[in-house]
Amino acid sequence: MKNKGVLVVISGFSGSGKGTLIKALLERYPNYALSVSCTTRKPRTGEAEGRDYYFVSEEEFRRMIETGELIEYASYCGRYYGTPRAYVEKRMEEGQDVLLEIEIQGALQIKKKFPDTVLIFVTPPSAAELKRRLTGRGTETEEVIAARLHRAAEEADGMEQYDYLLINDELDACCATLHQIIQCQHHRAFLHREEIAALCGELK
Ligand code: ADP
Ligand code: 5GP
Repeated sequence: MKNKGVLVVISGFSGSGKGTLIKALLERYPNYALSVSCTTRKPRTGEAEGRDYYFVSEEEFRRMIETGELIEYASYCGRYYGTPRAYVEKRMEEGQDVLLEIEIQGALQIKKKFPDTVLIFVTPPSAAELKRRLTGRGTETEEVIAARLHRAAEEADGMEQYDYLLINDELDACCATLHQIIQCQHHRAFLHREEIAALCGELK
């Protein structure tokens, strides 16, 4: 079977541990390609340009929308976030599995454009734990935390549109399950249309 790259969307409430989980996955399995998004929000302490995000002005973001440089974008708690097209297309063509860590509006745009995409939603084991993690991270003001928790309640309504629900309780176990889910996608029949057609031709 030919090894084709799988497009993987990972979403989850702010503070659910997506970033931590993806970092752990990449440390264990460095062959995954993680797309770096553009955003109009300001960098947090410790975040680096080009590694965590491309931090851009609203004007630059609007220009990128107009020129079609983003394959999806959304507004989240008053800031814009979007996925640059070029990196995703290049890595997919090279046969690499590409990870997009994006929120739900963007996830649904991607699924519409690329129906073979696998959508994974990450949650903490409880709402109380979500609040603990988001507050404990210590990167946001109380006002931003409140806005993000409010948005989490809205996002919960969309969870059923995802293909997989992943509970991030014990990090190592969650990371192993995430890797398994992605690897299973390589065996899905719809990704092997050409091989199936060739086999059918030979059998007839
Ligand atoms: P997100 O990227 O979803 O906003 P982060 O990865 O920044 O979330 O994680 C939020 C906080 O929760 C961080 O302080 C992180 O260390 C912690 N965290 C992440 N995963 C776990 C886990 N499995 N168990 C306990 N704490 C976790
Ligand atoms: P944060 O500000 O915590 O880094 O991200 C806020 C939210 O924006 C998270 O839910 C994250 O997944 C999402 N996000 C990050 N990059 C993108 C992107 O390129 N597109 C979309 N639609 N959402 C993104």
